[in-house]
Amino acid sequence: MIPFLDLKRQYQAIQSEIDAAVLSTLASGQYVLGPAVECFEEHFAHYCQTEHAVALNSGTSALQLALLSAGIQPGDEIITVAMTFVATAAAITYVGAKPVFVDIDPGTWTMDPEKISAAITTKTRAIVVVHLHGRMADMDPILAIAKAHHLTVIEDAAQAHGAIYKGKVAGSIGDIGCFSFYPGKNLGAYGEGGAMVTQHAELAKKARLMRDWGQEKKYWHVIPGFNFRMDHLQGAILNVKLRHLPKWLAARQSRARLYDYYCDKYDIPRPVTLAEHEHTYHVYAVRVTQRDTIQQQLLTRGIHTNIHYPIPVHLQPAYSFLNGRVGDLPETETLAKQMLSLPIFPELSDEEVATVGEALGGITQSLRQQQKAVDYAT
Ligand SMILES: *Cc1c(COP(=O)(O)O)cnc(C)c1O
Repeated sequence: MIPFLDLKRQYQAIQSEIDAAVLSTLASGQYVLGPAVECFEEHFAHYCQTEHAVALNSGTSALQLALLSAGIQPGDEIITVAMTFVATAAAITYVGAKPVFVDIDPGTWTMDPEKISAAITTKTRAIVVVHLHGRMADMDPILAIAKAHHLTVIEDAAQAHGAIYKGKVAGSIGDIGCFSFYPGKNLGAYGEGGAMVTQHAELAKKARLMRDWGQEKKYWHVIPGFNFRMDHLQGAILNVKLRHLPKWLAARQSRARLYDYYCDKYDIPRPVTLAEHEHTYHVYAVRVTQRDTIQQQLLTRGIHTNIHYPIPVHLQPAYSFLNGRVGDLPETETLAKQMLSLPIFPELSDEEVATVGEALGGITQSLRQQQKAVDYAT
């Protein structure tokens, strides 16, 4: 059996370090925020090449506080993509703003900069870019449009810790970067977690206030806030795990190189990584036709796959109030029907990757051959 993701393998590899950190945190008597969280903020800001990091309870909270610190108001329009996890759009609606979806580039699977201008209205205030699967969106043209229209740029880097675009780290390029430390993410806590990073002191200050009820000092609330604080335990765990992250990302990239080999061997389309980009492979996905059959046949060989994401946000029942229709975002909708995510995590062995690569290659080849026969006979 080859699992899609097995988090136990990683815990076992670092168990003594994690257990020591957890036990000392439990003994510290402090369970929410605290010195381990402060230490993590300092190291994570450094890792992201930003001045400030604000540790939070989730990536969704990071997006919500990013929008609020940037001054987004009810009724504002925020340009984003529908090919993302639903949290990107949810956070926009939490602050009363309206997500305006633009299509993706069919090669990179991320926001198509050419589609942005047509979506800008007098109400547009920000662009939330999503670095899907750990592959960064083409930021330069997006930043240029944002600058021309005075729009805030927020990077949803929940899947892209450590990804690089022209020498810059994900999260440090726009005005604000948002990260998730959900256990399955490239840097995962052992529970929920998130962070917002920024170069701007005033944005960090506002987010820091809002994550803890807007308290400037105890019971002195200067702005309305939330309970979006990070647990002390998660801060301690993330401090340990951050030290291992570069090695883990390199392992993901090496598994991905091997998958690339099988994709090329069997002519299976995969997304384009632009020059000067470093993809960190939170997800390794390919495009296939007859996806259900392929997924089923892989499963009969014990190989577990996934789909990120099968239904774009503009077609989700929960967002029907945005009046999205089939055909609005053709590239997004086609991709959603074709994408298939293969197992990838740092502890996956080369043998396992080879097994998946050969199985996928064999199945797609035989389906193509069947199709040829059908086409010939009809
Ligand atoms: C995981 C994820 C989020 C939300 O993060 P949580 O920590 O689960 O709240 C937001 N955006 C994207 C693209 C994600 O993958």
